[in-house]
Amino acid sequence: MKTNLLDYDLPALTEHFAQMGEKPFRARQVMRWIHQGGAENFDEMTDLAKSLRAKLNEKAIVGIPALMTSQESRDGTRKWLLDVGTGNGVETVFIPETERGTLCISSQVGCALECTFCSTGRQGFNRNLTAAEIIGQLWWANKALGVTPKNERVISNVVMMGMGEPMANYDNVVTALSIMLDDHGYGLSRRRVTVSTSGMVPQMDRLKDDMPVAMAVSLHASNDAVRDQIVPLNKKYPLKELMAACRRYLAKAPRDFITFEYVMLDGINDKAEHARELLELVKDVPCKFNLIPFNPFPNSGYERSSGENIRIFRDILQQAGLVVTVRKTRGDDIDAACGQLAGQVKDKTRRQQKWQQIYMESR
Ligand code: SAH
Ligand code: SF4
Repeated sequence: MKTNLLDYDLPALTEHFAQMGEKPFRARQVMRWIHQGGAENFDEMTDLAKSLRAKLNEKAIVGIPALMTSQESRDGTRKWLLDVGTGNGVETVFIPETERGTLCISSQVGCALECTFCSTGRQGFNRNLTAAEIIGQLWWANKALGVTPKNERVISNVVMMGMGEPMANYDNVVTALSIMLDDHGYGLSRRRVTVSTSGMVPQMDRLKDDMPVAMAVSLHASNDAVRDQIVPLNKKYPLKELMAACRRYLAKAPRDFITFEYVMLDGINDKAEHARELLELVKDVPCKFNLIPFNPFPNSGYERSSGENIRIFRDILQQAGLVVTVRKTRGDDIDAACGQLAGQVKDKTRRQQKWQQIYMESR
């Protein structure tokens, strides 16, 4: 079987090339062709020796996952569905803002952690994505979006907040992160690449040594009783351990705060007493809060907190001196909002029809 070079970060590619008797600068060249030049085949790589191209054609491929659909929301949010085989698809979302462009990447087909308010979690787990399938999402989006008139990349930030738990697919995610950060890859700053985890403590400890990037933790509750209910992983790594892991991470992180994500679920975790309890919980962890109004999906059993309750909750945190943002719901007309990524092929027809309808309406 041919080797897929998209699975390799620069150190691995350099090693692979050394085994073929090729010099390290060749690996750097190929890396740039694939990730900066968007090349899919070796014949495009015109500055490689013909003999090397022939060798690569014989032994290797640039295996980009196939694109199934590409959609654009009324608000400019874009979504791509990539074919990851055996009837599965994973989703990638681009969110344009004035100061930055953020790409939200998936790490698994489904998710095994079963948070009760998450549509990915409700679907169950299919498999981990390969490093090629993770970085392939950035490859496609980067190719579609390109650079600004000032020659800056349109994608300035990456968040691992799509489908799946990135820390449960540790090795492949770290390889993909390495390619994102590499100057011969996408050259993104560590501060602008964020891993979001529901709280896998041992992997958070590993990441701070292996590939420290910005860290977001899906907190969602102010005490173990509530968190046990909505984030089942909490039974394994309860809040006290999670807070300690956050402090350890900060010792090596490129940013001096953790972002806590907090989904606002009506009547479950959104009361004033919860906000006050949170202040006590995080008092030793430098942090920012990102409140996410719950995005509904069929039969979720939950409702979004009212705007009024979200404001009260936010004000309590802010008055205590915390930086708090309330996440704007983007791209919900194409089911691209947080927690709505389903990505299964069985949904494809419905999604396409919906998009076509929106597209027709907007013309
Ligand atoms: N598995 C990782 C990253 C993917 S989820 C994690 O849990 O952190 C990205 C964020 O969306 C998480 O904070 C997640 O809890 C949140 N989320 C999941 N379902 C949601 C929903 N229905 N509405 C709003 N946010 C949701
Ligand atoms: Fe998995 Fe994150 Fe969804 Fe929980 S919120 S089920 S960890 S994807």
